[in-house]
Amino acid sequence: MATIIKTIIPFGVNKIQLECDGGPGKFMMACGFFADAPKTCKCGSGNILPVGKKSAGYDFYSILCLDCKSEMKYGQRKEDNGLFLKQADGWADPYTGGGGGGGGGNTQPRQQQQPDRQPDQGGGGESDDIPF
Ligand SMILES: [Zn+2]
Repeated sequence: MATIIKTIIPFGVNKIQLECDGGPGKFMMACGFFADAPKTCKCGSGNILPVGKKSAGYDFYSILCLDCKSEMKYGQRKEDNGLFLKQADGWADPYTGGGGGGGGGNTQPRQQQQPDRQPDQGGGGESDDIPF
């Protein structure tokens, strides 16, 4: 018979509900784990949450700042698969896909710019005049 212990703990300015069915020891470990987490992002925001995502068959865990999208990443221990916060690495800037100066994401199709003032264009959508 498993006893589930629940609590709500603050995480930055947010609160997360923690549930643990492994007994008080495990529960306190979990609380301690989150107690280690930073309270604010490097941008000063406390609007942070622990997040996980899957990519290329691996699980990635980090604390995400919901305001500036910076992340502080977790590493995974080999011995017990436990997570540890890579505080030494600090907050990583949001991944922008390496593209310079664009507002959009890098997976969006290139937007066709409609020419505003083209003097002699016959209208329609077609604009493929061949100059010979
Ligand atoms: Zn931030």
